[in-house]
Amino acid sequence: MSRSFTIERGKTRVVFGAGSSERIASDIAALGAERVLVVSTAGRNAAAELLSGRLGACSVGVLNIAREHVPVEVVAEARRELLRVGADSVLALGGGSAIGLAKALALDGGVRVIALPTTYSGSEMTPIYGMTEGGQKKTGRDERVRPALVVYDPNLTAALPRAITMTSLWNALAHAVEALWSSTLDRATALAAEEAVRLLASSLSRLTARPDDAEAREAALEGAYLAGLSLADAGAGLHHKLCHVLGGMFALPHAATHAVLLPHVVGFQRATEPQAMAALGRALLVVDPVEALARLARVTGVPRSLRELGMPEEGIARAVDAVVTAPSTGSLERAALTQMLTEAWSGPSAHPAPPPLRRPSDAGTQPGLGSTHESEALPGALPRRQNIPRRAPYGLFPELFNGTPFTVKNADNSRLWMYRVRPSFAHGEFTSLPSARFTAPLGDACPTRMRWRPMASPDETSTTDFLDGLVTLGGGGDLVAGPGWAVHLYAANADMADRAFADADGDLLIVPQQGTLDCRTELGWLRVAPGSVLLIPRAIKFAIGLPDGAARGWVLEVVGRRFRLPERGPIGSNGLADARHFLAPQASFEDRLCRGGFQIVNKLGGRLAAAMQEHSPFDVVAWHGNHVPCTYDLSLFNAMGTVTFDHPDPSILTVLTAPLDDHGRAIADFVVFPPRWEVAEHSFRPPVMHRNAASEVNMVVSVASVDAGYEPGCTFLSPLLTAHGVTTKAYDHHLGPEFEDVPKRIPDESLWVMFESALPMQLTAWARETPLVDAGFLQLFDGLSSRFDPSKP
Ligand code: NAD
Repeated sequence: MSRSFTIERGKTRVVFGAGSSERIASDIAALGAERVLVVSTAGRNAAAELLSGRLGACSVGVLNIAREHVPVEVVAEARRELLRVGADSVLALGGGSAIGLAKALALDGGVRVIALPTTYSGSEMTPIYGMTEGGQKKTGRDERVRPALVVYDPNLTAALPRAITMTSLWNALAHAVEALWSSTLDRATALAAEEAVRLLASSLSRLTARPDDAEAREAALEGAYLAGLSLADAGAGLHHKLCHVLGGMFALPHAATHAVLLPHVVGFQRATEPQAMAALGRALLVVDPVEALARLARVTGVPRSLRELGMPEEGIARAVDAVVTAPSTGSLERAALTQMLTEAWSGPSAHPAPPPLRRPSDAGTQPGLGSTHESEALPGALPRRQNIPRRAPYGLFPELFNGTPFTVKNADNSRLWMYRVRPSFAHGEFTSLPSARFTAPLGDACPTRMRWRPMASPDETSTTDFLDGLVTLGGGGDLVAGPGWAVHLYAANADMADRAFADADGDLLIVPQQGTLDCRTELGWLRVAPGSVLLIPRAIKFAIGLPDGAARGWVLEVVGRRFRLPERGPIGSNGLADARHFLAPQASFEDRLCRGGFQIVNKLGGRLAAAMQEHSPFDVVAWHGNHVPCTYDLSLFNAMGTVTFDHPDPSILTVLTAPLDDHGRAIADFVVFPPRWEVAEHSFRPPVMHRNAASEVNMVVSVASVDAGYEPGCTFLSPLLTAHGVTTKAYDHHLGPEFEDVPKRIPDESLWVMFESALPMQLTAWARETPLVDAGFLQLFDGLSSRFDPSKP
């Protein structure tokens, strides 16, 4: 639905909406303006004449001499014209050049500025003006130049050429990004800037795919509006300083200079501006904003080097001088700035695209869980007698991996020997990534039951890989040292291209709900589809490819103890999950150099960090050990249950457990409710009303029908010892006259799973605030009226 609004922002009246420019005459009349001079660039002359005609007698003519960077000669000529026609207002139609000229005239001309923006420059929302004289751009702030009226009409941007659209959107993005690291921001502006980044980045992707996407045009213009007002509040920082210095010195195109520089300046500010990085991560829906901006620049096809904009290489030193000696830029390290500008000048070199992440059809597996496996991709690659031969076969590097401390009990000990082409430590320095959505801080535990609707697939115009698609729902305990648990959701539509993830904190159990995952691990390939699960032990590097194009599901993370089969007790030595049904990979390697850089994202102590390396980490030719990823097909679960009356506890359906202690408490259990026979007599099949000393996170993989109100992909939480039970409708049905007390088959289409922990569940801010929160959930339990009748025992 299209958006429209009118708001008085200080002395500026803002009118937003498709078609609003057609009513501009009445908005201008309301200002009391009687003699309006329309200014534009030469290229916008026809549109300016049309507008002038629409204003009727109110218009005193069109002046189409506006030029980029507002040269003082142009201002002088325009001022002469202004005096000649005796205008009381200047209406700028166009981008920052036309608006800049109108502002320059308002500086001492006693006229009011009216703006009809047709690019995303945002200049209309600021009291900032700029003029160029002798190759030097001078900027300043003056409330007199702030427009009295801004009319945003997305229809006017429909025909904006593709190249201008893209660079102008980057210009707007830079305004919002720069505001995020301003130290003087109030929360309102910070929120506006973050929302601007979200709107602008998504419209950049959408307009790249379809420049005529009217909805994206509207979102882009609203993003530009928010970005402009963020810039007005925050003021310009290092990024703008650089753009103005370079633009003035070398006559570079303004918006394109923003596009080239922004990913570099964000990288430059990464270490010192963690809050801005977190906001960017949230807005861009990624774990690494620097990498995401570089990717966005690549896909939007904007210029990516100062060289291609025409800047001479020797200009770098002059520009650095001008920036470091400017009073407004604070203390800046000359060498670091030179390096950043040199990289921006050179731009990225072209690299071959990484091969698609698809599990080869001949990739083998081997059965077993927790046992020692071994595998070699080349004959004789695995040393037989010893682990560290001085010269390992094929010149491989032996590498020991200890997943548990050396001296834990044999039953708990987990280790691995890998024989690889290059050592794992051949990588660059790690830099911190923001905890934007994945690994976001946990709030307080709360006893309220909640349900979340399924995660939406990422917009098809954006590329969200498995790692960027992760968002933390909540968790509890100690997520740094253990015991702790966390639940994450994912929704993705792209392969992890030259990027691997390793979670040094704990094991990950990945439960797909939609879409197959092709998982490349250091130890080989695994494939998992909905109905199966994937277990990645701590710190094993892996990358996920999406053969179906999109995927979503859940991830259970346990910190402290490893997953294992539950003790079976009196059930005996058979039943439930069987270790032989877990499938580990066979060794499979690539000896591939990645000159563009392969990114390793690591999680340690609950924090993400990234390092680049120049080779694929999937270069293990042979390995042996028991710290091994595996898959498990849930249809092989041998469910146990009652054959008389009453219901066993759901623990009877535990697939895997990570014990908290040796008394039956668990950091987390993974429980499945598979298709099965229910034969209890005189009993109540659905879970009874219950208060459980455990946090229960339930998830619906698939259902036979959504009648019960639970759609596939939904997630619901019953906090520790909070009363929960079945819906009013289900309860009434089970006690109603049509209920038949006969054996029943829970249909094959039905698959529910549960993560259960003896620790409380503390939700993230995202989990509490996301629009996926199902506000009507608790109403499903309303109206269970009393059935008590003291006369009927
Ligand atoms: P611009 O105004 O020069 O517009 C770029 C080109 O697009 C021009 O040739 C213009 O004629 C054309 N154009 C504009 N709208 C069009 C449409 N709807 N269809 C087809 N063509 C169209 O450039 P810009 O990027 O909008 O603005 C850059 C200038 O604005 C720079 O001088 C910059 O310094 C200034 N600026 C100032 C502020 C501020 O707050 N003072 C903020 C941002 C930018």
